This record gives sequence, structure tokens and C-alpha cells, in this order.
Amino acid sequence: MAVKEICPSPTLAAGQEQDGFRVRRVEQIPEIGVTAYEIDHEKTGARLLHLHCEDRENLFSIGFRTPPRDSTGVPHILEHSVLAGSERYPLKDVFNELMRGTLQTFINAFTYPDKTIYPVASQERRDFFNLARVYTDLVLRPRLLRETFLQEGHHLEFDTQGELSVSGIVYNEMKGAYSSPDTLMYKALQENLYPDTPYACDSGGAPESIPDLTYEAFREFHRTYYSPTNARFFLYGNIPTGEHLSFLAEMLAGFDRVAVDSSIPLQERWDRPRSVHGYYPIDREEKLTGKTTVNVGWMTALNTDAEEAMLLSIVADLLVGSAASPLRKALIDSGLGEDLSPVTGLERDLQQISFAVGLRGTDPDRVSGIEALIRDTLGSVAAEGFDSRLIEGTLHQVEFHGRELVRGSYPYGIVLMGRAYHTWLYGGDPLTDLNFPRTIQAIRRRWEAAPDLFQGIVRKWLLDNPHRLLSVMEPSRTIQEDRQQADRERMASLAASLSPQDRERIVAQSEALKRFQAEPDRPEAASTLPKLDLGDISREIETIPSETSAIGDIPALCHELFTNGIVYLDLAFDVSDVPEELQPYLPLLGKLTVQMGAAGLTYEEMAKRISLKTGGLGVNLASGMTADGKSGWQKMFFSVKALYRNIEEAVEIVRDILTAGDLNDATRMRDLILEKRNGLKAAVIPSGHLFAQMAAAAALSLPAWRTEQWHGRTQLRLISGTADGLNEQREALREKMARLREFVFTRNRLRLNLTADGEGMTRLARAAATLCALPAGTPPARTEEKSRQKEHVGIAIPAQVCYVAKVLTAPPYRDRLSAALFVLARQLSNGYLYRHIRVQGGAYGGSCRYDPLGGLFAFTSYRDPHLTETLEIYRRAVDVATGTPVPREEMEKAVIGAIGALDRPLDPAGKGYTALIREFSGLTDADRRRFREEVLDSTPDGLLAAARDYFAAAEKTAVVAVCASEERLKGANETLREKLTLEKLNS
Ligand SMILES: [Zn+2]
Repeated sequence: MAVKEICPSPTLAAGQEQDGFRVRRVEQIPEIGVTAYEIDHEKTGARLLHLHCEDRENLFSIGFRTPPRDSTGVPHILEHSVLAGSERYPLKDVFNELMRGTLQTFINAFTYPDKTIYPVASQERRDFFNLARVYTDLVLRPRLLRETFLQEGHHLEFDTQGELSVSGIVYNEMKGAYSSPDTLMYKALQENLYPDTPYACDSGGAPESIPDLTYEAFREFHRTYYSPTNARFFLYGNIPTGEHLSFLAEMLAGFDRVAVDSSIPLQERWDRPRSVHGYYPIDREEKLTGKTTVNVGWMTALNTDAEEAMLLSIVADLLVGSAASPLRKALIDSGLGEDLSPVTGLERDLQQISFAVGLRGTDPDRVSGIEALIRDTLGSVAAEGFDSRLIEGTLHQVEFHGRELVRGSYPYGIVLMGRAYHTWLYGGDPLTDLNFPRTIQAIRRRWEAAPDLFQGIVRKWLLDNPHRLLSVMEPSRTIQEDRQQADRERMASLAASLSPQDRERIVAQSEALKRFQAEPDRPEAASTLPKLDLGDISREIETIPSETSAIGDIPALCHELFTNGIVYLDLAFDVSDVPEELQPYLPLLGKLTVQMGAAGLTYEEMAKRISLKTGGLGVNLASGMTADGKSGWQKMFFSVKALYRNIEEAVEIVRDILTAGDLNDATRMRDLILEKRNGLKAAVIPSGHLFAQMAAAAALSLPAWRTEQWHGRTQLRLISGTADGLNEQREALREKMARLREFVFTRNRLRLNLTADGEGMTRLARAAATLCALPAGTPPARTEEKSRQKEHVGIAIPAQVCYVAKVLTAPPYRDRLSAALFVLARQLSNGYLYRHIRVQGGAYGGSCRYDPLGGLFAFTSYRDPHLTETLEIYRRAVDVATGTPVPREEMEKAVIGAIGALDRPLDPAGKGYTALIREFSGLTDADRRRFREEVLDSTPDGLLAAARDYFAAAEKTAVVAVCASEERLKGANETLREKLTLEKLNS
């Protein structure tokens, strides 16, 4: 394969010593262009892995093995708290300072069931080492103030009515998590499949156990596990290894090797299967039938057994990974339930790997039928084996995804870190999962020698494995109220037991906490943080190579980039003049086009073809405004990616689904509709803020209305209605789909977008000519923008927390205020809103965002215990922005942070797509240059003037939408001046 497979030349050799470190091993992995170093710190025993490569987005992370002993959430509360401050950086919230005032491209912390990881990334060398320096100090030497513990963990307080309640950021975060059926399902499996290990505890914290955590136990957990001896440093990027070693030698000076036992006991294998039963909350008026989920899980091999782990991941994919997978197909086709359970698949972030499969949308009386079907299907697979095309397709997927450079919301380094940890954390070789070509080759050889290899794995780890758990999750209309009632009773009895002195202590403590939170950091403390100068920041924008061309008579945009042997093709169809009544059906058209049969092949055969010849086939609908704000665009995108050797076939697949799709398979159509409905429904609780934001924005512009129609609650309702009335409406629906297809999939509304390197581009352009087989159709007609009715809405959802959105119209990208509003939104988010909604309010998050290409300014809160108070904070945030200038030192941070947000790196596919969107928006490099310069040159007075200019008129356009329980919404309406129109999520 003609690919630039270059690993940096080794700069250190195995056995070599530097700065107190000893290099254990050096290994090159050409397929991902990495030279890997495994290194030990001799004095402390700290372990280090550096993946040296050409990527300039360097990643630094510290990880500890942190197995919990209870469900008080101590690993999670600690994860939130160490980043608050250290002796050296004695601020109240260093994490927030780093997030807002550096060029970080990623900054976060993660609590897993058995480890805690602190990663930061940056593209600027100085910024990178500043971040790494502060992070290491915070993690190893945190202050862990009592106030931080109370704020992040839990504390008691009396609310305005004098009622006693528990508050705390993690406490509220976990209350939100415990409302999500997906989370509850996953918990039930993990905790009951490994009952004799730390995995039986919730490292995140169970809301009823969090208040049991003491400050002393919290500090003790840090002392026990946060030592260099128990640490694993994972580094990635183009900074040479030697520089990291000099830096880390300085950071680790003063630490010794300590005795630490963070080992995780193995779960002993059962000799017979077990079962558990649980409930998740639904709305009081929802029906109970068809809402149970049945899962079956197995404990399988050790993660450190790399080849067995790889075999299991292949087998998991064979069984359930695609529409052609036998176990998936058997479950869906059985009609015993609606779609696969979201926990289906392999879980590798545990010492002993688990596999689970299940059906969602079923009833308790079908449990034994589902269990039997799973057993019988595994039995026949074990006896007869898998289709060899399915196996080839799966091996191709492993190869493809091992090679592809992906940078979505996470840096690529994070993806590789996750793979390394699968084995590294448990004492195994960290490189096995990265060195996928070697493992795949070994597996291929074994498969050739023993054609029953994969079915043998099914027999060994699933069929004949007694360590199996049946988990049934039923809906409950009362569990939410029962929990709240139990909370109230617990609080009432606690309140009754309090002496007057106790009450005074609680009041005094919460007042002291409020004072602590409101008090600004001392300037000396703030000056301890290493900072970049504005002068160090480049005034130049990064550009994406784009060349306009045509393939036949279809206009195309080409981006020649290094893509590691993969080509990306996007097809964008203009859907702006699709008749209004058909617009909400576009998402379904997309799904059916990609997932039904085509060109005489069944959906199953198509699925095999797609898996064998592409790295994925996707569909998406998006809309936006132009940079001048004068018009908008609305597009339906199909995207395909492929290895060079498969380019021609990948494009043929796209042509086939667009020109010869099959809409006749009624069963498949029903299954896909149910899957879509269930997926959307499950997304509401984890993304409540986005549903609220879409609902509020819908009245403000046509692109925002389209977003609501295609992705919001409007879409959920349409799909639910379609699913319920499918029997009567099947023909009408098919007719709509056929009409839409004929209207949309035509050359005259198509724009192609090609991303590849030189050789790939030539071949892709040649292959894409086959798309000229699409009918010409009519060019899109001009459409009139209609005004929509403004309404404040309250959407009732079964959750213990609120999601509060308020959206305003805002000027377009090219407006003179745009750069100032961009900086201002970040400043408000990281300053006023962060302090009042998160720190003082106890919500998981609260922020605002200005979207210049959507023409919107949106305030949102996430997992928020408050509702009306949050709306009041949004109002006061505007008063702050229009009342006083941003202090100078804050200003500099806001500008640096805003530049960091503009410079977020993209992967090759992301670059190609972004360039296409810029083209649709009429956004030129000159516009972007002007915007960047105005951001860099913004001043406190400039922001103040922009805020006054903007908010005076914009506040009148504001629309509010809230997702919360019905009780909370009704309560809010008693005091709100502008009432929320209450609606059910599903009606
Ligand atoms: Zn958290």
C-alpha cells in the first residue's frame, strides 16, 4: 500500500538511562506512524508510555488504579476535587482557570470503575508544558480543602422554605445519571456480574450513598492511591521523549517509592448462572407494556490475554455488530422485542472482559423466550460457524479502524490511550491493542489452520460459560416518586433529630461555603499559574486545502490531505425546498436508505457488503445560516470512507443505495423505525439540555426550526406516531419515502466533497464518476422564510434534575459584533455562569454559547437542581455583561481561551467536512482572518459596548424551554411571569 508509514527514528534505546528513568522497551508501529517507548522511573516506580509521532496535538495524562470499596463515589468526588488547587497553585478552581485561559485542545478527568485519568492536550509546546506542570502538581499535591469537598461532594443545607436537603455537584450529577435507563442497565450488569470485586461498587457514587462519605475517608483515598508508584503516565505527540523525561524528573523529585496495593481481585467464575431484576423511571401516564429490557451478560477472558481479547472482540462483532450478524438478526426478527439493548457488546474497561446482549421494548412474560432464543442461536452458531464473508468483513473493520486517524471531540491520543489501558492497567503489555496488524495476522493464521476458531470462542466463552447473568429492567411509574419520597423522609427524620446547635452548625457551614465560593482568589494566588502572552499567539488562521472542480456535471470540492491510506467522500443534497409536510420525514429517509437492501440484495447482504468494502456509511442532516446572515442552507449528507483498495466498490455501494434502494421489506422497515424511536427516546435524559435548546431555538430561524424537526422532540413525536400507526400507514409512508427519494437524490441538487492524499484523490475522483448515473432532477427552488410562533415550553420528562435553556437571536458571522460576542459568551460561561450555576447552584453544568453560523445565542444548564433560579441567573448574567467591563486579567484569559476554541484540531474527515460547510455558509478565509484578529484585539470596553448594543434588542427575542419533571414545571409556572406551555415529551 502506497502510504506514508513513517515512525520517528528512535531517540533512546532499550536499557538506556536518563534523568532517573530507565527505558524498558522501544517499538515501532508503522501502521499508525508511532515509535513507542515504555519507561520506568527508578526511584518511585512510576510507569510511562510515550507514543512519539508526527501529531502536533500532544497529550499528557496521569492515571491511577483506584478500585473503590463502597458506592460513596469517593474516586469520582476526588477526581472533581484534586483539580481545585494545590499548595503551589492555591486557587479555588485551577481547573476552570486552565480551561478558560490556555490553548488547551482537551482538558478533562475521567473516573472509570477501576481507574482515574487526568488528560490534557495542546498544540503549542509552551502551553502543553504549562498544562502538564500544573496538572501533575494538582494531582500529586492537591489541597483538598474541606470547602471543596462540601461543594463537589455533598453538604446539608436549608432551602428557602427551611427544608433540609443534600446538595453537591457530584451528588446532582449522579442523580441525573440515575434517571437514565441506559446507565441503570449498565450498572445492573457490571455490579452483579462481578459481585465479589470492586466492580460491585459504583465508583461514580450512588445518590443514596454519597452522603455517607466523610472528609477523612476522602483524604485517605488520595493518600492511598495517588502516588507516583501507583501512577501511569501516558504521553502522545511530536515532542521528543527526552524532553518529557527531563520535565517529569523535575515533577517527581521529592517522591519515593511507597507501598501501595491497588490490585483488583479476580472474580471467581460461577458454576451456575444468576439473575437480577431492576426498575427504571418512566412518566406517570406512560403505558408500561413493551418497555422492559432484557439483558444477558457473561464474564469472559482476562483483558491481559491479548489474543483472546481480540478474538472476543471479533466474535462480539460477528454476533451483533452489523445487520447481518446472526444473534442480532435472530433477536430482531423474533418479534420478541423492538431493538437491541444499548448495553449490547463487549466491555473492555474491566479486568475481566464482559459481553452482553439484550432486547429493548419487550415485556416480562417474554424473558424466558428471549433467553432461550439467545441460547439456541449461540448453539447453532457454535455448531455451524459464521459465514466467511461476515468474518472477512469484520477483520476488515478491525484493520480499518485501527488505521483511521480520528479526532472527534477527543484527541487521537485519547483513543490510543484507551486501547493501551485495556492491558496496561492490569499488568499486561500496553502495546498489544495498538499493534493490531500483528494481532490480526496471528489470528488469520490461526483461522486458516482451524476454520472453527470463531465458533469455538462462542462455545467456550458464551454457550458453555456458567458465569452468566440475566438482568431484567422494567419500567416503573412510581420509582421516581418513591425515591423522592424516601429522600424527603430521610431528610425529615434527620431534621427532626437535629438539636438547635446542629441546625446552627449547618446554617453556619452553608453560609461559610457560600462566602468561600463568592470570594475572589487573591491576586498573588492567581499569578502563580504559568501563562502565555497574547503576543505569543499566531495571528494567522489555519486553512484547509480546497479545490473546486467537477465530476461530470456534478460540482465537487477536493481536499488533498494526508489520510493514512483512507479516502472520504461526502455527498450533500440540497433539501431546502422539500415540501414542509415532508421535511420531518427526511431523517427516516436517510436511515432507510443506508440500512435497507438495495440493488437486488437483501439488507443483510448489503450490510455484509458495506462491512467488507467500507469503513462506514453514514447519513446526516444539517442546516445553517450564511456568514452574511441573508440566507440559509439545508442539506442531507451521505458519507462513505474506504481503504484505497476498496474505493471503486465503496462508491458503487453509495450509488446503489441512492438509485436502487429497496423500500418493500416491511419487517425491516418496522424494525428500523422502532430502533430510531428507541434511540431518540433514550437520548432525551442524557442530552436534556440539547432537546431544550432545540425546542427554544425553533421559533427563531428556519435553520433552527429544521434542526428541531429533524433532531428534536418534534422528530421523536413524529417517529413515535409513525411507529404506533405503522400498520395503517405503511403504504402512505412508503409513498412518502418514494416521493422524497425521487425529489432529493438527483444530480442537480448534489455537491460532492472528496478528501484524500494525491493517489487516493485521483482514484476517488475516477470512481465518483459512477454517481453521474443519478437522474438529473430539477434544481432546488427558492423558498420563502415564514415566521413561526414563539412559545415558552416546559417539556415533562421523568428526571430528578432540570435542563434549562434560553435562546436569543444573534447576528451573523460577518457582523461587526460577532468576534466580541464570541469572546463574551466564553467569558460569561467560564465566569459568571460557571460560578453561579455550577459552583454555587450545584448543577453539573451551566453555560452560554454564541453560534455565529446559526445566528443564535443560547444559555443552557445541565443536570440542574434549580429552574426559576437558573432563569434569574441568565437574566443577571446579561446585567453583568452590560453593566461592568471585564477586568483586565480576566480579559486576557478570555481571549486566549477563545483562540483555543477557534484552533480546535480536526481529523482528515473533519477537515474535509468543515471546508464544505464553510463553502455552504459563504465563509471565506478573509472572514475568518478578520474574526481572529478581532478576537485577539478585543478589549474590555469593546466587549461592554458590544454587550450593550446586542442584548438591548436581543433580550426581546428570548425563548425559554425547560426539560424537567411535570411537578417542577408546574411549580415554576406559579412564579414565572412568562408561563411555560406544558407538554409531554411524547404528545
Ligand atoms: Zn463528574
